[in-house]
Amino acid sequence: MTRNKNALVVVNGDDIHHDLLTASLVYQQLGIEAGLVTRRGMGMNRFVDARPETADADTYLLYTSGGLFPTAQQEALAAAVRGGKGLVGIHGANILGWQGDGLDPADRPMFELLGNRYLSHGPGHHEGRHTIEIVGDHPITEGIDDFELFDEYYEFELADDDVQVLARRHRADGAEIPVMYARQVGDGAPPETRGTRSIAAFVVDAGTPGLEIAERLDVMAPHPLARLVFHGCLVPAAQCLAESGHGFKLAMRTLDVFRTSVAAAALGFARRALAEGLQRARTRPMFGQMLAELQLTQAKLAEMALTVDAAALLTYRAAWRRDQGHTVTREAAMAKLAATEGAQRVIDAALQLWGGAGVQSGQVVERLYRDIRALRIYEGASEVQQLIIARELLKA
Ligand SMILES: Cc1cc2nc3c(=O)[nH]c(=O)nc-3n(C[C@H](O)[C@H](O)[C@H](O)COP(=O)(O)OP(=O)(O)OC[C@H]3O[C@@H](n4cnc5c(N)ncnc54)[C@H](O)[C@@H]3O)c2cc1C
Repeated sequence: MTRNKNALVVVNGDDIHHDLLTASLVYQQLGIEAGLVTRRGMGMNRFVDARPETADADTYLLYTSGGLFPTAQQEALAAAVRGGKGLVGIHGANILGWQGDGLDPADRPMFELLGNRYLSHGPGHHEGRHTIEIVGDHPITEGIDDFELFDEYYEFELADDDVQVLARRHRADGAEIPVMYARQVGDGAPPETRGTRSIAAFVVDAGTPGLEIAERLDVMAPHPLARLVFHGCLVPAAQCLAESGHGFKLAMRTLDVFRTSVAAAALGFARRALAEGLQRARTRPMFGQMLAELQLTQAKLAEMALTVDAAALLTYRAAWRRDQGHTVTREAAMAKLAATEGAQRVIDAALQLWGGAGVQSGQVVERLYRDIRALRIYEGASEVQQLIIARELLKA
């Protein structure tokens, strides 16, 4: 069963202008409307050594109206967001990051995360009615039109790199002041956690709107190979096989199965090549006898049979151990490496026995010669199998 995403509203501070409890209810409602199971908490001292019952959430909705947000707590929250948690910095973003006319070093973690800095309440009285103009195309502003707001307002400075302004107001003197913005922190993950540690796994059905075959790839032996593009595909939660951070492990476990099946495919090619080689050796007259009667041919056939049987035993071992429920990372890598590299040698030897006829288009050995090549590359090239085997040996 897939767990619903949840959110935590955190309020903090002592500003009586905004009633913290009212704010927390409003933000809780926002979270619920966004489809998140949303609960509330008060106080920022919850992100260091986060205990699930006080800080665990997929998304944080933050409201700080003054009060202290300790640097260590900021750092822990920033790390959680960089690790993939969502953050909506409402109101609090405007309070943080100010000391005199410069950045308060104590607030640097949140400044670096949010990409803004509070400057002032702006000229004149800082409460009033103003028109909010939606300017940014973003899921947050989807379906929202310009609107009138009576409230207090702030002025702040945005980091000028990747902060996208979503809404702004027009000040009496004509200046355009951003009031809502968004910043993507990594892809929901910082550089050190990108790649394998943030991968999820989904089943995307063929025919899902947004799934396109961008390009079919023509290769030396027929293979249904294409470059796929996933553009805004909606996938039901029930089709999530592994949540973010667990997809890579699932892929690797799946490869243990696929590598064994690639080994089995290579074994089939090799067996056919051996049969073709034997048949040709038995029937091709050579210097008053058959090709099979030459000892060099027999050595070749013996080597081919040895390679085929060794690959078969390694493949059966990997499959059998997997069926017994064992992890077969090493065994599957050995089977794939031996079977695919071995099949290439066996097929090459068979083609050699066929001589010039062997390279003619349409001959079985010619087709096998092309068919086998990709198996030494996909599901992990042979060099990768060598690395896996060595790693497993050294781990033991
Ligand atoms: C017919 C075919 C079907 C495929 N099907 C699929 C599919 O269904 N799904 C899918 O996701 N992908 C598929 N692939 C892609 C396939 O998995 C990759 O081609 C393969 O993993 C190699 O990656 P690459 O092509 O980027 O080569 P590169 O990563 O550029 O590697 C090139 C070569 O470098 C060498 N090499 C790699 N790593 C090392 C190392 N650590 N040390 C020394 N040498 C190394 C190997 O000889 C390797 O062949 C398919 C490919 C082919 C040809």
